Amino acid sequence: MSTNPLIAAYKKPAVYVALPSEGKWYDPKPKLSVDNELAIYPMSAKDELITKTPDALFNGEATVALIESCCPDIPNPRQMPVNDLLVVLLAIRQASYGNDLSVDIKCTECGHINQMAVDSNVLLSRVEENTTSPDIKLGNGFKVSVSPYNIQDRTRLQVQQVKQNQIVQGLMQAEQNGQQIEQAEFGKSFVEIAELTVELVSNCIVSVQTPEEGSSVIQDPALILEWIKTITRKDYDEIRDRVEKLSENNLDTMMNAECQECQAKYKTNIE
Ligand SMILES: [Zn+2]
Repeated sequence: MSTNPLIAAYKKPAVYVALPSEGKWYDPKPKLSVDNELAIYPMSAKDELITKTPDALFNGEATVALIESCCPDIPNPRQMPVNDLLVVLLAIRQASYGNDLSVDIKCTECGHINQMAVDSNVLLSRVEENTTSPDIKLGNGFKVSVSPYNIQDRTRLQVQQVKQNQIVQGLMQAEQNGQQIEQAEFGKSFVEIAELTVELVSNCIVSVQTPEEGSSVIQDPALILEWIKTITRKDYDEIRDRVEKLSENNLDTMMNAECQECQAKYKTNIE
């Protein structure tokens, strides 16, 4: 928090929100209220500008900057588990613009665009605790403890996927124009993304313990990364699936809607 008395007096939390992670997996831990809630401050004019820059959103830096500004009690937003992200962004929106969210929903029957008013308090009250266990026992008795992805790793994966799409599109364009395509470059991009995926899953492994009675718990990331590159597909998938499950935000965004044009009733996801 700022030591400037003007800023300290001006900036007050507008919303307190319960984190789906309950503060687990942060390093360092966020400072929570006595009720275990996170204080959310309204966006500044500068924050609003950042959120409107599409390029900045792409690399995730905007998200980090926004959380730094509106959630000063999270010392290192890059380490925030992704399952908290949607809840925190929704709370920042509420702190800045109030409870009413207006969303455009296309009718599934007639295609009419309906404007729906959603109360973000209702959404935030629907956050469920993620009951997925972070502990896995593999078929051969290895014990693995995992965490959700963090914002930094998720962003790295997204950047890589965008790059890969650009390469694929470029190659398809070249092929259409009758140009010789660079198979090597094509292959390289897929190897890169596969390696990154393994590395990111490895980053989510907190510890591994071998089956022997009383064996030590390994937490060295370098040893874990080396190990994960040698395990079977089945074990790898089990670990990755658990990480994915832990990364879910548990925010129920399904809403009942009625079309103003054709009166069709449908369920819609407003995410
Ligand atoms: Zn309709």
